[in-house]
Amino acid sequence: MLRFAPSPTGDMNIANLRVAIFNYIVAKQKNEDLIIRIEDIDKEKNVEGKDKSILELLNLFSIEYSSVVYQSENLKYHQRIAMQLMTKKEAFSCFCSNDKLEELKLEAKEKSKPNVYDGFCATLSEETVFNCNAPFTVRLKNPKENITFIDGLKGDIEYKSFEIDSFNILKHDKTPTYNYACAVDDMLYDISMVIRDEIYLSDTPKQIHLRNMLGYDKKIEYIHLPIISNENTDDDSSINYLIKEGFLPSAIANYLVLLGTNAPVEIFTLEDAIEWFDITKISNNSVKFDIRKLRFINKKHLELMDDLRLSKILGFADSDIGKLAKIYLEESCTINELKSKILPIFEEKNSLESFSDELKTLKECLKTAPYYEEFNELKNFITKETSLKGESLSKPLRYLLTKAENGPDLAALYPFIKNYLGDIIK
Ligand code: GLU
Repeated sequence: MLRFAPSPTGDMNIANLRVAIFNYIVAKQKNEDLIIRIEDIDKEKNVEGKDKSILELLNLFSIEYSSVVYQSENLKYHQRIAMQLMTKKEAFSCFCSNDKLEELKLEAKEKSKPNVYDGFCATLSEETVFNCNAPFTVRLKNPKENITFIDGLKGDIEYKSFEIDSFNILKHDKTPTYNYACAVDDMLYDISMVIRDEIYLSDTPKQIHLRNMLGYDKKIEYIHLPIISNENTDDDSSINYLIKEGFLPSAIANYLVLLGTNAPVEIFTLEDAIEWFDITKISNNSVKFDIRKLRFINKKHLELMDDLRLSKILGFADSDIGKLAKIYLEESCTINELKSKILPIFEEKNSLESFSDELKTLKECLKTAPYYEEFNELKNFITKETSLKGESLSKPLRYLLTKAENGPDLAALYPFIKNYLGDIIK
């Protein structure tokens, strides 16, 4: 079983989506289930509705999963297991005040030492604990030995026992900390492989230590993905933003799989990638988010799209409009850019600086023109009926047919707009 474990605290960005996609691909390759675990344990950080919008995006990207679970529903297990650890003396109540913990932190900083708990409350007698009225957290005792594990990308990793610290597993309100809930849930759901961002690398030894303390000896494979850096100041790495800008889910997914991967082809679907993708071969260096590359891939996906489907995305229901849009891919890469070319074709064209009389003449002429299969025939008709030629013909004609002053060859566009001339010439 694999899991994608988003926190419902914000919008999904490219790094989160990449984690989801890789979990999906690897689950398919291993023929194992993928669950979505909404990590909603930190009530203060949760943002209402974000869980739903994450699930909607997963559907939009066709990331199939077997079930959705909410981490907060496991509270009783988190608490019961913490009590078990306390009974076994692997965990202890910590009454230290925030002020004292702050002091420890400052002291560690001054001495350039790691900020770890000093272990004071682990030494309290049972009687002292029993008689203490102060609020307490629950800490897991740090391991006696170093913790080692293998990361599928980074190789052998070792953390010293003091680095793991006697970390909190339950907060003052007896709700679990992030690290603890995550470790317990990976065990509860029988997770076999964890694929997540590199920022969680130092959590892994803590989670392994915790499961060791519970005698859980199933090995979980770990892969920590390198960071995707984004130099742009605008937040163009939000998935909702990219979708709003007119990028196709299939292209975004293609781009994210391609990042740092030695792919046999550049343009593919997720289903194709399941055939050849090898997560252990992706680059272990951080990768740059390059919107120009994403634009290129988006264009390629638009080129490959079924004409009728493209037409529907643009708000029409005729494959000719899909074909027309594909001609405009010469100068566009996104759905929005295509719309900005195609929709004006059907709008009124009232004024064209320096050619307004010519525009009027052309409009009148075209309203009476018979239907022509070929653009040249139409052009011959116009030349015969009006005295327009050269720029006085080409400029207003392009404007009248496309509402633009330049663009693709009109003869190439004509086959796909010829049935709409009545709507276009107005
Ligand atoms: N909840 C974390 C996140 O939203 C993921 C933690 C994990 O995968 O273990 O990125």
